[in-house]
Amino acid sequence: MVDLALEGGTLVTPDGAAPTHLYIDGGRVAAVSTQRVSARQTLDVTGLYLLPGMVDAHVHFMDPGAPEREDFISGSSAAATGGVTTVIEHTHAHPIYDAQDLRAKANYLRGRSLVDFGLAAHVRADRLEAIPEVWAAGALYLKAFTCTTHGITGLLPPDLLQAFRTIAAAGGICLVHCEDEGITAAAERALREAGRADFGVIPLWRSREAEWVAVSTVALLARLTGARVVIAHASNAQTVDLALRERQAGGAVWVESCPHYFYLREDEVLTLGPFRKFTPPARARTASDVDEMWARLRRGDIAYIATDHAPATRAQKEAGDIWHVHFGLPGVETTLAMLLTAVNEGHLALSRLVQVTSEMPARLYGLYPRKGTLQVGADADVVLVDLTKERTLRDADVVSKAGWTPYAGRRVRGQVVATFVRGQQVAADGRPTGSPGWGQWLTRVPAPAPAPTR
Ligand SMILES: [Zn+2]
Repeated sequence: MVDLALEGGTLVTPDGAAPTHLYIDGGRVAAVSTQRVSARQTLDVTGLYLLPGMVDAHVHFMDPGAPEREDFISGSSAAATGGVTTVIEHTHAHPIYDAQDLRAKANYLRGRSLVDFGLAAHVRADRLEAIPEVWAAGALYLKAFTCTTHGITGLLPPDLLQAFRTIAAAGGICLVHCEDEGITAAAERALREAGRADFGVIPLWRSREAEWVAVSTVALLARLTGARVVIAHASNAQTVDLALRERQAGGAVWVESCPHYFYLREDEVLTLGPFRKFTPPARARTASDVDEMWARLRRGDIAYIATDHAPATRAQKEAGDIWHVHFGLPGVETTLAMLLTAVNEGHLALSRLVQVTSEMPARLYGLYPRKGTLQVGADADVVLVDLTKERTLRDADVVSKAGWTPYAGRRVRGQVVATFVRGQQVAADGRPTGSPGWGQWLTRVPAPAPAPTR
């Protein structure tokens, strides 16, 4: 007799979707079968899809660091509500450099998360010796910047070269924010000298050229050093293609992107200012720009989708001029709804959705097959989805401390009905139901399976 049966639903895997009962025992998947197994508790999930929970590899829960913007309880509550069962978190206001920092943060977070969480460390040019130890202690990736952003000092090419050599030698993986320091700094200088402080400075300051130069350099250095590198939040198709050029030449390079590069347009910043201030900024100008992103997501050029959840409240977004106000958008609770809508709109198959939201991030960051799949033996991190249910996204429903969403007013089709982490329900019908402390700190599984290149 197992603990819990989810009977009558349709199980989604990277190979497709099929009617399957799912059985959970001791927090793990005990059976996936068309035959019934007896269980202490049975839920009839007829008409619903069962997806492996989203593994959101790029979130900022600001705790410790900037808890007035978000904390781990509010952030993980938002995650659970949105169908995210694992997050990989890092906070720029409280960077992690060495093993001691990492363990202290993991300890602090005991009792503060509804969903399972991994932690990432930051790379500092003058602390490269800490990389092997923080990696060995269980940081799931190293985060580096090519430009000074969010108070974190950027790495110039000579620093990146050394950092990638160190990461390659340690067997680590690096997520890199790609905007060229020289180009962004020169643009900022010119705009400030011209007295500009209107919303139009954002796309000029954080230009396409700055992103393309940085991504080309980073991907090339990845190939030259053999380091495994993920390009963070690629904002447009050309960025993806520049990264792939080095992968085709033998580099271990993958590309991350985020919903805001599929759903928000470049010119929105001109009217919405701080509420569209994130970087790299939205680039899409036409429907065909967006179609090019969907094509790259479908064919695997974009390896996975993360939210880059970096919330600030409305008041925080309105404090100060456009130069000084926080970068970032909330997104951890809306991303799966947006992508399920994309499935309904024909942009991507449900089988591909589970790859880009769950399997690939779990594989890349060493969590697979504990996470990223609902095969027998995996953690029972299950999202029940009603693909036909529609709603309008509203600020009033936002669980994050942000209290708003850039997608307010949008109609979405496809809704998270309930979220389970290791067999325990942590959210239902748009509200968190779990307890802080249920979520566990995750380190890499023993001998993780290598990630495929697509
Ligand atoms: Zn980020």
